[in-house]
Amino acid sequence: MNRKLLVSFVSAVFVVGFAFGALADFDKPVIKEWTEKTTDDKGKVTETPCMSIDGITVHEEDPAKQPQPQVITPGTESAQDKPGKAPSDAIVLFDGTDLSKWISTDGKTPTKWEMKDATMMPVRGSGMIQSKQEFGSCQLHVEFATPSKVQGSGQGRGNSGVFLMGRYEIQVLDCYENKTYPDGQTGALYGRKPPLVNACRKPGEWQSYDIVFHRPVFENGKVVKRATFTVFHNGVLIQDHSELTGGTGWRGHHSISNYEPHGDKGPLQLQDHGNPVLFRNVWVRELKD
Ligand code: MG
Repeated sequence: MNRKLLVSFVSAVFVVGFAFGALADFDKPVIKEWTEKTTDDKGKVTETPCMSIDGITVHEEDPAKQPQPQVITPGTESAQDKPGKAPSDAIVLFDGTDLSKWISTDGKTPTKWEMKDATMMPVRGSGMIQSKQEFGSCQLHVEFATPSKVQGSGQGRGNSGVFLMGRYEIQVLDCYENKTYPDGQTGALYGRKPPLVNACRKPGEWQSYDIVFHRPVFENGKVVKRATFTVFHNGVLIQDHSELTGGTGWRGHHSISNYEPHGDKGPLQLQDHGNPVLFRNVWVRELKD
């Protein structure tokens, strides 16, 4: 074998090796294949290829083996002047009626957030608000409007935040013609991951986050499965199954927290950052990890 051929051969082995290495990361399904033969009245034999994946036949119709998905009633879209409705299987945390599902972050005292025209908002010195119910992995819908009267710049303009499990922040900020560091702008996993695009609407307009969150898993004090976020901002994908490499807690201008072990569930929190950001139409659907 000449040298050129040998290099090609070794390269090919590496490529195949890497390919197998990558494949090994997947959970391997248990596949079984067989052929079912049927004979009609005229003696014609038909052979149908069959396959099962992890014990379930492809296109299985027996509900005991492959149940039908639960039927739910989908919600309605929001308009600027009217919030939409949550899907029928969602836990509604705020629909403009009252703040009964919310409490202050000490978990005991009533929230000081106020309601105004069927929206809720922080007021001076109110602190963050949190849901009484706790959640782990979930789908979350939340709508917000940064102040129409623009004040401040950078992180000081329309700042709030959506905190999953009371600790992982998706930034809320008015980034409409307002520059700040990319990993702290609207839809950023704060300090960890900038959004894919800036999909901000104008100050004062209603905007939405649709979030699919999978909680981190800890074993013996160490993270063994990191949290992931998929986020749509005003219907635009801005976090594409982003894996959170650690915490999002602010420790200084160029430093954020690491993962710290915690339980399977935590409250949803909305931030009071001193700016009167409005919220409406907040609902959650719990997901399996
Ligand atoms: Mg914030």
